Amino acid sequence: MAHDLPKAYEPGAIETRWAEYWIKEKLFSVPTPPPGETRPVFTLLLPPPNVTGRLHMGHMLNHTQMDIMVRWHRMRGFLTLWLPGTDHAGIATQMMVERQLASEGKKRRDMGREAFVERVWEWKRHYGGAILDQMKRLGDSVDWDREYFTMDENLSRAVREVFVRLYEEGLIYRGKYIVNWCPRCGTAISDLEVKHEEIAGKLYEIRYPVIGSEEFITVATTRPETMLGDTAVAVNAGDKRYTHLHGKKVLLPLMNREIPIITDNLAQPEFGTGAVKVTPAHDPNDFEAGLRHNLPQIEVIDEQARMNENAGPYAGLDRYEARKRVLEDLRQQGFLVGEKDYTISIGKCDRCGTVVEPRLSTQWFIKIAPLAQPAIEAVERGEITIVPENYKQIYLNWMHNIYDWCISRQLWWGHRIPAWHCSCGEIIVAREAPASCSKCRGSKLTQDTDVLDTWFSSGLLPFTTLGWPEKTRDLEVFYPTTLLITAYEILFFWVARMIMFGCHFMAGHQQDPKVKQASGWGDKKDDSVPFRQVYIHALVRDAERQKMSKTKGNVVDPLDVIERFGTDATRFTLAAMAAPGTDIAFSEGRTEGYRNFANKIWNAARFMFMNIDRIEPGLRPETGSETRSQTGVDGFYARTLEDRWILSRFNRVTKNVNEALETYRFHEAANQIYDFFWGEFCDWYIELIKPRLLDGGDESARIACKNLLGIFEAALRLLHPVMPFITEEIWHAIYDGNPPLQSIALAPYPQADAKQLDLAAETEMAILQDLIVSVRNLRAELKVDQKQRVPIQVFAFEPEIHRLIEQNRGSVERLANVEKIEFVANSLAKLSGARHTARFDVHVIYERKIDVAAERERLKKELEQIEKEFANGQRQLGNEQFLGKAPTKVVEGIRRRAQELETLREKVKSKLDELG
Ligand SMILES: [Zn+2]
Ligand SMILES: [Zn+2]
Repeated sequence: MAHDLPKAYEPGAIETRWAEYWIKEKLFSVPTPPPGETRPVFTLLLPPPNVTGRLHMGHMLNHTQMDIMVRWHRMRGFLTLWLPGTDHAGIATQMMVERQLASEGKKRRDMGREAFVERVWEWKRHYGGAILDQMKRLGDSVDWDREYFTMDENLSRAVREVFVRLYEEGLIYRGKYIVNWCPRCGTAISDLEVKHEEIAGKLYEIRYPVIGSEEFITVATTRPETMLGDTAVAVNAGDKRYTHLHGKKVLLPLMNREIPIITDNLAQPEFGTGAVKVTPAHDPNDFEAGLRHNLPQIEVIDEQARMNENAGPYAGLDRYEARKRVLEDLRQQGFLVGEKDYTISIGKCDRCGTVVEPRLSTQWFIKIAPLAQPAIEAVERGEITIVPENYKQIYLNWMHNIYDWCISRQLWWGHRIPAWHCSCGEIIVAREAPASCSKCRGSKLTQDTDVLDTWFSSGLLPFTTLGWPEKTRDLEVFYPTTLLITAYEILFFWVARMIMFGCHFMAGHQQDPKVKQASGWGDKKDDSVPFRQVYIHALVRDAERQKMSKTKGNVVDPLDVIERFGTDATRFTLAAMAAPGTDIAFSEGRTEGYRNFANKIWNAARFMFMNIDRIEPGLRPETGSETRSQTGVDGFYARTLEDRWILSRFNRVTKNVNEALETYRFHEAANQIYDFFWGEFCDWYIELIKPRLLDGGDESARIACKNLLGIFEAALRLLHPVMPFITEEIWHAIYDGNPPLQSIALAPYPQADAKQLDLAAETEMAILQDLIVSVRNLRAELKVDQKQRVPIQVFAFEPEIHRLIEQNRGSVERLANVEKIEFVANSLAKLSGARHTARFDVHVIYERKIDVAAERERLKKELEQIEKEFANGQRQLGNEQFLGKAPTKVVEGIRRRAQELETLREKVKSKLDELG
């Protein structure tokens, strides 16, 4: 079966076909390796996309970088495992299904928990695979046989195991705590899920009468309704203004409750009046102060952000309505003494945008300090490296200031907390539902209604996906995973938690020394860490460097780009622009350029096959039967200068590409390959060997064919991690459908061979290229007709340069369109139409012969065009209405063009004058 390439390169069809092939053939599946495995291991965990997710540009960049690293390692002989899966995404998924229900006129609470959860599963079965299908389109070389979902039975069992162990170790506790409460979602949300916004608000000053005196203490607040829950007023112990009031009480206005004046650092003398109200149930700082002074916690706002029964006459009012009424009453009764404009910072729910209410509620917590310490040390000791390095300090700062983690969520979708409440008040935490209460033997037990924060389960993935809590062979080989590539925005949500959980639950774990040594991580002592290295990728912005956002309408959908230019070109764009630590300004113009790059390679392959099939038809199938174990170029005969040169260049570029990938310089790797493949291989090498191919028949032509094929095949392997599809397609065609391996993805990655570097050849070729390009430029300046061959004169500075040009006379004449080369004994630099370099002078001998009448005609037409365009521009600039509407950019463009046109007009006129 001949595998000839069709004339046109159509990425869509090629890419879909190979993506299916890779999956069908299970090329990237990695079964559990037997004992004795000695290949180095490379493991990468895919940051699991939300099951509700759709692929965006950030994913596309992330996946491109991951797939490049994975393919590169696999081709270098690593036992390479890339683990895919999806996250159940608690709030996001629940909201998605709630919205679907709403459109049917149904409500979650009316359905009941069991029916609702079943409905979410049903949704997941129908729509949950969308993002995985998109990953397949990208060509992600993941192990689909190991695909997981965070609520799979085995992973859920591991989650319960972790919860129970932490509880037994005293690291999980239940407590009243001030949490960020979203009244819309009806759940506590973590600090990380609160988005802060600055808005224009008001600062109100309220005075509280001091009992037993005529004095008042004035406090300031932006949320006056919370005063209904005040249980103290705080002043600073060092504040002389209030010393005489220590130990006294004030009467809380509106509520007529006596509350103490306490001394606490919560009050800062330099801020406002120096006195502050204390509301332990509705402010996180006041909550802490309340604990220090044993103050009562009076809740006045309920879970739907309405005032509750403790709010006296305001009970039942919405929080904002209550604010209005409280202010009115305070004003009437003379307690409101000030009101000024003030910029306030409010927190909004990341999911739904509702203003969060700090609220007291009973939640489950992880005592974080004992977990954070080993996670800090692992990074400080370099057991985990973070790239780019500035993120290391960001991580450490955060970890040093970490708070206990509130892990319970008031949702129905997620891992339900494995705790059961008995009517006697006992709480039983267990791996499976207990039959009876351990305290009263009663059997009326109800499971806790909360579920765990989504990040609880995803924080465990590095080991739970490999079979934990069993001591599996997979863990022995693949844990710690090698690399994590992820976005900065989940550094704390996810990365930090994986490190904490990994260091805790995998403490004492040891990786199989055989694969560890081979991977080059033998010097790292600690195998409890979840990964050896974290690479934080940049953001993808729009072409104007603006952040992509739905409201701005500048979101680029990667699937649209893929549809138009192909996955390969899209991947190449992101790789070529991905300098570490630099955001990417994505422009489709670049992608179009890389589609042209793919096209160039395609056409070069077609040219190659055409010639090989004519000169050496046996070469393709014959190559297929060879065992290709080499990492370099096979079957190469370096005879001529161009052969020696291209072989040397290939090895040098190979060296650079491997080094660039070693340090995540994706842009350098991509640009090096691009310049080599297009700039050197297609534009120079193929052009240089054309005469040998055209001669046909003889030995030199057959060698040219072999060399062409050898370099092409190796260059495809070099490019494969970035452009997996087109390289697979052409590679199969090289072997005429009978390749030595199932896929180029399994072939060895090129490694530089120092013996094949040839500095002399590179220097000599550079001189010839310089000469040819100089002549081309001179021809362009002199406006020599494309078809016309012209003689040149060359003055060589050294005899070797003279000899070099003499020996390659044919190539220079052909590629620079030269009629004859004449060597001269003196410098030519002063002549017009000459170029002076460090090694030679070159002069193009050409006198322009022109048809004066025709040229005059042409210039007249040009002048007319200029006048017309100029007049149009002037008309627009004179039109008030147009100027009023047109964007400044456009108007400026027209002005600039008018200036250009004036200059052009003068030039054409003077040329016409010259012609007479
Ligand atoms: Zn919300
Ligand atoms: Zn009981």
